[in-house]
Amino acid sequence: MAFEPVLTRNRDNPEALTVAGYRAAGGYQALAKGLRMEPGEIIDMVKTSGLRGRGGAGFPAGLKWSFVPKDSDKAKYLVCNADESEPGTFKDRLLMEKDPHQLIEGCILCSYAVGAAVTYIYIRGEYVDAAIILEKAIAEAMEAGILGDKVLGSDFSHRIYIHRGAGAYICGEETGLLESLEGKRGQPRVKPPFPAVVGAFGCPTVINNVETLCNVPHIIERGADWFKSIGTDERNTGPKLYAVSGHVERPGTYEFAIGIPFEELLDECGGMWKGRQLKAFVPGGASAGVLTADDKGVCLDFDQVAKAGSMLGSAAVMVMDETTDMVRVCTRFAKFFDHESCGQCTPCREGTRWMSMILQRILDGHGRPSDLDLLLNVSSHIGGHTLCALGDAAVGPVRSFVSRFRDEFLARIPEEIGSPLPVVR
Ligand code: SF4
Repeated sequence: MAFEPVLTRNRDNPEALTVAGYRAAGGYQALAKGLRMEPGEIIDMVKTSGLRGRGGAGFPAGLKWSFVPKDSDKAKYLVCNADESEPGTFKDRLLMEKDPHQLIEGCILCSYAVGAAVTYIYIRGEYVDAAIILEKAIAEAMEAGILGDKVLGSDFSHRIYIHRGAGAYICGEETGLLESLEGKRGQPRVKPPFPAVVGAFGCPTVINNVETLCNVPHIIERGADWFKSIGTDERNTGPKLYAVSGHVERPGTYEFAIGIPFEELLDECGGMWKGRQLKAFVPGGASAGVLTADDKGVCLDFDQVAKAGSMLGSAAVMVMDETTDMVRVCTRFAKFFDHESCGQCTPCREGTRWMSMILQRILDGHGRPSDLDLLLNVSSHIGGHTLCALGDAAVGPVRSFVSRFRDEFLARIPEEIGSPLPVVR
C-alpha cells in the first residue's frame, strides 16, 4: 500500500535535526502561517480536520483545546505527554529522535492557539537520547528566534522545557503526569476538574501526546480538507504511526493512513516470522483486548477496532504466532499492571494483585477449576470502580484472553484441587 509519509518524512534525513535542515525540508512554514492566523482559527481548523489524540483515548484534539477558558487571567500551559510507556509502544520515540523540530513546531502552534506561554515536554526517563536531541533542538530554536520572546518576530512569546520522568507508567496518565511535573508523587487526580480548567500548577492546561502535536503543522500548512481526505471516515482521519512488534519479519514503526487493515500492515512488515501462522494480535498496547486470526481483516482505526472488541489505544500492534502461550502472555500483562498500579484505590491495588496471583497459579499448573470464574469476578470489581483508567486497562486484556482462549486456560488447570496462591515474583 503506497503511502507518502507525513510524520516520518524526515526519518532518513539527519539534516532535519538542525533548524536549517528542517527549514530546507519545508519546516516552520506552518508556524509562520499559523502566527498570521487568529488563535481561534487554528482551533477551528484542527477541529475540522478531525484529528483525534494519538496517545490512547482518541479524544478530538481541537475540541480539547476549545475547553481552555479564554477569559481566565491565569497562566496557561501546554504539556506534551512524551511518557511513552505502554508496553509495545515506541512510535513517539522515533518522532522525537528523528524530527524534534516537527514536535517543537506543533507545540508552538498549539500553544499559540490556546494562549500558553510555556510548554513542558514530560518525557519518559528511559528516553535519554530523545531528551538530549530535543534539548539541543530547543536550544537551537531559541537562538534562531523560533522560541523565546517574539516568536518569528510576532507578538507571541513561548518557551519549551523538558521534564524527565522517573519511569512510572502511571505518569503517562494525564493527571498523574501533572502531579509528577509539579514535583509530587505521580498519582492520578480526581476528575473533574479536568486539566483544561485546573491543570499544571492549578492553571488551565492542554495535554497532548507527541504524535498528536506532530500532526498540527501539517494540518495548518496543508489544510483540514487534505487531512480529512486521509483515513477511513470523518471520525478517523489523518496519517497514523503503528509500532509493530512480535512475530513479524520486520518489526518497527510504520506510517500509513489511519485504518489500514491489519492484514495489509502485516504484509508491510514482511509477514509472519519464519512463515508461521498468525494466532492472535493485540492492536493497541497491553491495555487493549487481544484479537484472533479471525479478526485479521479489521481496519486499524478507533471505531473499527472497538467494534471488533478491542481498542486502537497507542496503536502498538503486537503479533503472536501459533507457538505463543496465551496463558503466559496474559500473566505477563497482568503482572505489569499489578506492578504499575499506584495503589491509590483499593479495587486496583488489591484486584490487580489478585488477578496476577491467580494467573500465575494457572501458569504454574496449579490452577483450580473455579479460577477462571474467580478471575472474571475479581475483574468485575476493578473495571469501572477506579479513579483512573489503569483499572480498566488491567481488566481488558484478562477478560479478552480468557474469553477468546478459554480452552487454553482450561487445559492448564488440573482436575484435582490446586495449590494456594503463590507469591507473585
Ligand atoms: Fe492508582 Fe490504579 Fe487507582 Fe489509577 S486505578 S489511581 S493506578 S490505584
